Amino acid sequence: MTDISASSLLSSGQLTIDLNAIARNWAALDKISPGTLTAAVVKANGYGLGLEEVSKALAKEGAQFFFVANPEEGLRLRTALPAAHIFVLGGLWPRTAEIYAQARLMPVLNSMAMLEEWLAFCVEQGEAYPSSLHFDTGMNRLGFRLSDVSWVRQQLEKTGYQPQMIMSHLACGDQPTHEKNRTQLAFFQSIMAHFPDIPGSLANSAGLMGSKHNHFQLVRPGIALYGGRAISGRTNPLSHVVNLEVPILQVRDAKTGESVGYGGDYTLQRDSRIALAAIGYGDGFFRANGSSTNHMGARVAINGKLAPIVGRISMDTTAIDVTDFGPNGPVPGEMVEILGPNVSIDDIADAAGTIGYEVLTNLHGRYRRAYVGGEA
Ligand SMILES: *Cc1c(COP(=O)(O)O)cnc(C)c1O
Repeated sequence: MTDISASSLLSSGQLTIDLNAIARNWAALDKISPGTLTAAVVKANGYGLGLEEVSKALAKEGAQFFFVANPEEGLRLRTALPAAHIFVLGGLWPRTAEIYAQARLMPVLNSMAMLEEWLAFCVEQGEAYPSSLHFDTGMNRLGFRLSDVSWVRQQLEKTGYQPQMIMSHLACGDQPTHEKNRTQLAFFQSIMAHFPDIPGSLANSAGLMGSKHNHFQLVRPGIALYGGRAISGRTNPLSHVVNLEVPILQVRDAKTGESVGYGGDYTLQRDSRIALAAIGYGDGFFRANGSSTNHMGARVAINGKLAPIVGRISMDTTAIDVTDFGPNGPVPGEMVEILGPNVSIDDIADAAGTIGYEVLTNLHGRYRRAYVGGEA
């Protein structure tokens, strides 16, 4: 009998994550902001690419400051990286201060209730456990209001507590000429003036790449580490990180006027050759990447040549028009590049009307996952 376990590919595809590229991207971003600490945002399981693997590769490259979303991610990261400085962006989960203190997790305190609970805990323990304060400068997400500044200062003066850092977050960093960047920067500068001895942090990837005025003492890139486009309308200077390949299951010929896929709303305009690839929305591949007669969908690549998706995406399969490859075109078993050197996460995101962040965090399909570089 054939040894099934030795056979190369029984799952739907191969996802390869290049940890060397992530490390290179971090080093490139670190260079853009000299004299500033370059942290790494690894929330949502390292943007879907693996919290531990990604973080260890970044630490090896020199990253010491990490941002996760919640305390559970914080605990996982603490196990992987005993010496890292770890901030929890979501802040302090109620009645868990002791867990943060034990694991040396620093909450990003986003509200009066969080600050009160953290200060009460520190007073009770007789120890100033580190944290960051987050002011909302214009996106109505997490963070203190601008009008909370004097209340916050009173709390700090009363207890003699000094946070590690004051931060805020840009709503429109991906559009560097957007007016909101200037108003948020001005608000942030006015807040920082109230805390002259405390380091500041404003920039995500886009803020960091957009203007040095956003740098302050620590920058917090996420998407750019993973090869995503941070600033719209600009060439992305960073290395691509993710390769996703899936096999072709069948190649078939179809005639002009026939339709492809569910709903029958893609009608072939010529005699065509269609390759069926083993990927679908069941793998997190967006249905919005499909096409109809009147709407272009995403393109994928075979042997480095782009080819359009035709018809709707099914749960497990996707149809690709390979007519232009001619008679010696792709055959079953050949691999289709869904993401890689020829198809970026932003190409797929643009076609689906979403963002690269969502493409990455949806890579939880039936793929075999492998890492290049890192510890090995
Ligand atoms: C996610 C996040 C970042 C990283 O943003 P990117 O756009 O991925 O670089 C930085 N700061 C905060 C507060 C975030 O939530």
